[in-house]
Amino acid sequence: MKHPDAVIVFPPPMDRIARVYPAPHFLSSFISSSGFYAQPLDLNIIALGKLTSPFFLDKEIETAATNRARLEESGLASQKEKEAYAACLRATARLLYGRSIHSQHYHRKNLMDMENSGIRYTRIFFELYKKYFGLFYNTNIPEPQDIETFFSCPEAVLIKDLLQETIQGAIIDKKIPVVGFSIPFAQQFLPAMMLANEIKQKMMDVHICFGGPIITLLPETYRKAVIKTAPVDSFVTYDGEMPLLQLLQDKLRGEAIDEPKNGFVQNATHKNATPSDDAPHKKDKPVHTHNRFQKEHMGYFSKNTPIPVTQSTGCYWKKCTFCDYINLHKDKIYRPRPVNDIVADIQYYHSLNFTHFRMLAEAIPPKHADEIANALLHHQLHIFWHSFLRVDDRFTTEMLQSMEKSGFSCTIGMESANACVLETLNKGYDQNIIRRFFEKLRNASLMHNHLNIIVGTPGATYDQELETLAFCREYTDIFTKFKAGIFTLTPTSDMGKNPGKYGLLIKDSNTDHQPLHGRIASLSFDDPKGMTQEEKNRIMEGYTQLNAQIKNQQKFHGFLDSIKGAGSGAAINDIAFVLEKPLVRQQVMHHDFKGQADYMVVNMSENRDHQVFIDKRQAAVMDSLKDSVFRFQDVMAIMQNENMALHFIKKMATGYLIKAADIPHGIQ
Ligand code: SF4
Repeated sequence: MKHPDAVIVFPPPMDRIARVYPAPHFLSSFISSSGFYAQPLDLNIIALGKLTSPFFLDKEIETAATNRARLEESGLASQKEKEAYAACLRATARLLYGRSIHSQHYHRKNLMDMENSGIRYTRIFFELYKKYFGLFYNTNIPEPQDIETFFSCPEAVLIKDLLQETIQGAIIDKKIPVVGFSIPFAQQFLPAMMLANEIKQKMMDVHICFGGPIITLLPETYRKAVIKTAPVDSFVTYDGEMPLLQLLQDKLRGEAIDEPKNGFVQNATHKNATPSDDAPHKKDKPVHTHNRFQKEHMGYFSKNTPIPVTQSTGCYWKKCTFCDYINLHKDKIYRPRPVNDIVADIQYYHSLNFTHFRMLAEAIPPKHADEIANALLHHQLHIFWHSFLRVDDRFTTEMLQSMEKSGFSCTIGMESANACVLETLNKGYDQNIIRRFFEKLRNASLMHNHLNIIVGTPGATYDQELETLAFCREYTDIFTKFKAGIFTLTPTSDMGKNPGKYGLLIKDSNTDHQPLHGRIASLSFDDPKGMTQEEKNRIMEGYTQLNAQIKNQQKFHGFLDSIKGAGSGAAINDIAFVLEKPLVRQQVMHHDFKGQADYMVVNMSENRDHQVFIDKRQAAVMDSLKDSVFRFQDVMAIMQNENMALHFIKKMATGYLIKAADIPHGIQ
């Protein structure tokens, strides 16, 4: 086995494990194609795997049991205690489910499979995840002098314990000369610092280099201050390939590392720079030719994992006032990759039996998307691919039809359908253009897409947000999910740099904690002309309900209202059902709950708060229906009472414990 010259670490925590982060793999692949050998090291998935091992799960199950006994003894007098008891039962159900998976066939691949089939890993192990990693999600990047104070906190000690053996075997024992850390999300910054510190303490001569979006977006003054005391030898901003290669060459030749500016390795790439927009990409030289996952490092990938393929760097629009992504590229130039390179990547992964892909792109422009689709069709590659798209009038129905045929689906960053809000955001389109674009998607049968919405844009009123929500309701045939998120004010966006221009008043960030969403920091602000928090919550709730309606429509093939309103069994006789999977049952011991229920059932594919209370008889019916397709009359045959059978079906359907079976309506 080759001895690595460099290891590129992906630090914990990152909760979406099926969304493999490509940078450590792509960097390693680039280094390895340049005469050295680099290995990616996903410490996140290793830490998660260990954290959810039987040892930790058993400890957490024990804690949940103690809480449960304490709550049962307390008498559950208050509503708060009752909710805590229900939450404890839910948590126990999830932990026991987690324990059963791990004792049967624990493997990283299984965890990815689980997530790809809709069972979020961190939902199952939420208690553990929150307890040990919650701190890092809730902490802003600290002042340089405070970083060290986190090294000895219990969460840091746990991360070190979880990863000590791996670090020893993969880095220290092998005397790896250069260790890179790729840090795309803010919650990884502190754990990366702690792990770097661990490595440095055991290997003084190692060169540790930090890079990734978070490092790029940090103010230079901050980086300069941190480098003086932190266990990091250099920071790389923007693309890391060339600086890392240079580092490695210098280090292995024993030459002084070129650190002209106080330990900073400045990025000197972009020799392939091309003018902006989508036109000239055919003439481009390949960008990131070697940016591929190597077969030997894909062993733990689930076959349905969407493999990231670089389509471009930069954004071809780059004018949205709320956006900080555009600052991740030094000169903000949009650089698409040639279609042949993209398709060659897909062919390579296809030969390894991967069929799901996601384009790494802020948004694919029409012409490029069309060319990729036609190339995929030409090569008869039967795959699924996904990308972000902008609302762009240049898309034609024919283009979208080719894209649909080639297995395409998209997430569109519409953000709003209101004229004033769109102008504030500077999206470059109006509602008429959006309507035309959505109509073309419809005509091209390009379904199963997601739509991004920003709730609480500076100055946006409640009525304007209602207009967008009503607009979305018209397009539930082409969008399966409306991904609404509350507006975040990022320091490097135009809005963050010029808050006054948008009517915003910046508050002291320490007094009002804003959600970070993986960003370095979000600015706390007052928006005198905008909505109240309560109004924002109501709008968010509107989207939650809209998404629930869409889900119901899919789960019950449009029959949920008939099921809910059925006055007799005959009204729903034709509908075939199956039980959802996986369902986990918890016995309810407390008398307050026992009056109405003997068990709580949790559907592991549903959100974290999902729960349904059932009695013994309903539990017995569920047992007899397990693994079979059934209709109302089958339930009736067991329960021998039409009202009870009808009540059972309605409760199971509205509680997401059953769904319509995938057989055509009316076929026996
Ligand atoms: S939000 Fe998207 S489309 Fe707008 S500038 Fe940023 S990356 Fe480009």
